[in-house]
Amino acid sequence: MKFHFIAGFIASVLFPPACLHCGARIRAGTLCNPCRASFFAAYPAERISRAAGSTGAAMGAVPGVIPGAVTPAVPVIPPPALFCGSCRARLVASGGARENIPGAVRALGRSPCHPSFPYLLGTAGSYRHAVLASLVRALKFEGITDAAEPLSALLIAYAEQCAGFFLAPAHTRHQSIAWGAGGPSSAAAPPIVIPVPLSRRRLLARGFNQAELIARPFAAHFGLALAPHALVRSRHTKPQSEAPSAAARRANVHRCFTVPDPAAIVGRRIVLVDDVATSGATLLEAAQTLRTAGASAILALAAAEA
Ligand SMILES: [Zn+2]
Ligand SMILES: [Zn+2]
Repeated sequence: MKFHFIAGFIASVLFPPACLHCGARIRAGTLCNPCRASFFAAYPAERISRAAGSTGAAMGAVPGVIPGAVTPAVPVIPPPALFCGSCRARLVASGGARENIPGAVRALGRSPCHPSFPYLLGTAGSYRHAVLASLVRALKFEGITDAAEPLSALLIAYAEQCAGFFLAPAHTRHQSIAWGAGGPSSAAAPPIVIPVPLSRRRLLARGFNQAELIARPFAAHFGLALAPHALVRSRHTKPQSEAPSAAARRANVHRCFTVPDPAAIVGRRIVLVDDVATSGATLLEAAQTLRTAGASAILALAAAEA
């Protein structure tokens, strides 16, 4: 313990922590105050301070984000919303308050425009935001696991504003009946948080699953169970960014997931967590696999949409 403290002190003198976006010297954490304020600008400061803990709240943040700008001046991002997974229509009129979510979404966990599509989509930020992109790159490609903390905090702040109806531990009787498939008892059970899994080969190469690092504090914050092994990537796939077309991306992930223990998810609502949602092909494949295994409804949440 003492050794770790001394080693940590020496490391902090030799390698003082720097902002993962702009490189500015910081005393602790991952982002300098201006970058952190820019990163969380779309969310009210009081929510961030709760979600982000003591690592530096974005107090006084400007309510809006200009992609690429560190200190935004004009609000350009609309209020947080859930989206139809199929056509990406916004499912929240404004503000994200519970009463703004259409009844069909609230009761069934399905989009009203594409009710048979297997998931609702929620994305907390845009990959075009330079600070967010820096964090994702640091996490995925530089192995800086601390970068998951602000990404998770962003997802928490976002979900608090527009996904509360799905994350609630119990539903009203009316809603329980509407859930159908698993019966009222399982519908009233809290959702299970499942990070999009990596293949064994990629997990060994990277050393960690970035989606799990984002999902773990998220699940803890909402008091939900994290089930990182409920969905398994049983076939190695090349990165989706290397697939040249939408059809190629779908083919790349076709049948790459399996559910080892369907009994654990039958009739349950699932929160599927990933770092970035791009074409949605990976989320669709994962959601279809979970639905086939018996999940009643799926909310796919990503820190960023690209
Ligand atoms: Zn910075
Ligand atoms: Zn739709």
